[in-house]
Amino acid sequence: SEFTELDKQIDADTDAEETQLAQPVLAVVGRPNVGKSTLVNRILGRREAVVQDVPGVTRDRVAYDALWSGRRFTVVDTGGWEPGATGLQGAVAAQAEMAMNTADAVLVVVDATVGATTTDEAVARVLRRSKRPVLLAANKVDDDRLLADTASLWSLGLGEPHAVSALHGRSSGDLLDAIVAALPEAPRDGDRVAGPRRVALVGKPNVGKSSLLNKLAGEQRSVVDAVAGTTVDPVDSLVELDGEAWRFVDTAGLRKRVQTASGAEYYASLRTKTAIDAAEVVIVLLDASEPLSEQDLRVLTMVVEAGRACVLAFNKWDLVDEERRYQMVRELERGLVRVPWAERVNISALTGRSVRKLAPALRTALASWDQRVPTGQLNGWLADLIAATPPPVRGGKQPKVLFATQAGIRPPTLVLFATGFLESGYRRFIERKFRERFGFEGSPVRINVRVRE
Ligand code: GDP
Ligand code: GDP
Repeated sequence: SEFTELDKQIDADTDAEETQLAQPVLAVVGRPNVGKSTLVNRILGRREAVVQDVPGVTRDRVAYDALWSGRRFTVVDTGGWEPGATGLQGAVAAQAEMAMNTADAVLVVVDATVGATTTDEAVARVLRRSKRPVLLAANKVDDDRLLADTASLWSLGLGEPHAVSALHGRSSGDLLDAIVAALPEAPRDGDRVAGPRRVALVGKPNVGKSSLLNKLAGEQRSVVDAVAGTTVDPVDSLVELDGEAWRFVDTAGLRKRVQTASGAEYYASLRTKTAIDAAEVVIVLLDASEPLSEQDLRVLTMVVEAGRACVLAFNKWDLVDEERRYQMVRELERGLVRVPWAERVNISALTGRSVRKLAPALRTALASWDQRVPTGQLNGWLADLIAATPPPVRGGKQPKVLFATQAGIRPPTLVLFATGFLESGYRRFIERKFRERFGFEGSPVRINVRVRE
């Protein structure tokens, strides 16, 4: 049926190639007590409060956002990982292996007052194979007298030991410079072009797009003059709603109420796609007096695939009677199963019923589209979720989710770093729980998985 078709398309979307991270990842590895947590705190500069470790309690807050010299990156403390290997040396080496396969760069921490132990050497053996940059921190160099001990750490074969004191901050700036230089350049989130937010008004022919636009623009014919310095593309309409100017994109045809000629469906669909791509948020107009059609579902698929924020407006509500309303309940439950997060507004372009509810719904959707959850908060929540409901075993193996970052906004995109494939059912479970915790009403959320064994 058309519903499973939509399902498949959306699955294909979430199975997309691994996303390029907006923020590169630095993994910190080393034996217990060498000062990893202290150093991570130093790197974060108290940007995100690290939960104090209680002895004997598993450390599960593992990843945080860091900022140095204007560069953002994610810091992961691998001390929180339980690789399941036996023995300290095996466990730490396994953590190093995972770090090397997951992160964009690895920072090894060694206690300079102790020197290289056999465990440090095992870690170094793993990391010498790394294709990504590896940095070596010689920690607990609290004063110059200890500098001599640092030189012996060259023997690990990981390059120059950076002498630091995580506790006192000594030389941590130099280490951070080296880290930032080693990390790949992060693509920046496209900064929004200033000006009114861009809205697309889409829906099948005769659903009431022109009527709604005329209704909305009705009393606001001179709004273009009211927004100083705004140039409007001739195909767009500037409309004031609820005290704010909005740019309705690609509405030239609508304003003129061009009748869609028969056979022009292909062009109508192309025009819909163009409008969605040009917009930040989409009002999908549905005819409340009729059952959802295949055409409606195609439009919804386009919006989800384009990753745009979305409001569902059920038009012609003036034609909806008791019986129709009853029918709709089940129909929508099935038909809108992929966009349960979209706000629904019941309107009538003819009578003006509830059209004033559109602006608040658009604002909510855009706020969600722009929303970013800090990495520390995200991982605190994720660790609890996964402990309670681990990913299903696949091929006899239990995939582990190591940590996650919100790689981007517009649309919000999560990247889960995992040791195995996570099936789409589990990703949807995570999305549902993520929305329960963090909201994101009105916006699609993408969940990508980076699998590195
Ligand atoms: P982790 O197990 O590797 O995360 O190590 P912690 O960060 O928990 O640190 C272990 C111990 O070493 C703590 O008592 C820290 O205060 C101490 N420590 C960490 N960095 C330094 C340092 O630069 N100098 C000194 N003297 N002690 C440190
Ligand atoms: P478009 O093709 O999507 O631009 O749709 P139009 O705005 O041209 O509307 C198609 C038909 O539906 C017109 O006859 C409108 O008068 C009618 N229509 C639009 N909105 C409503 C509504 O809310 N209630 C009712 N009863 N009719 C509507």
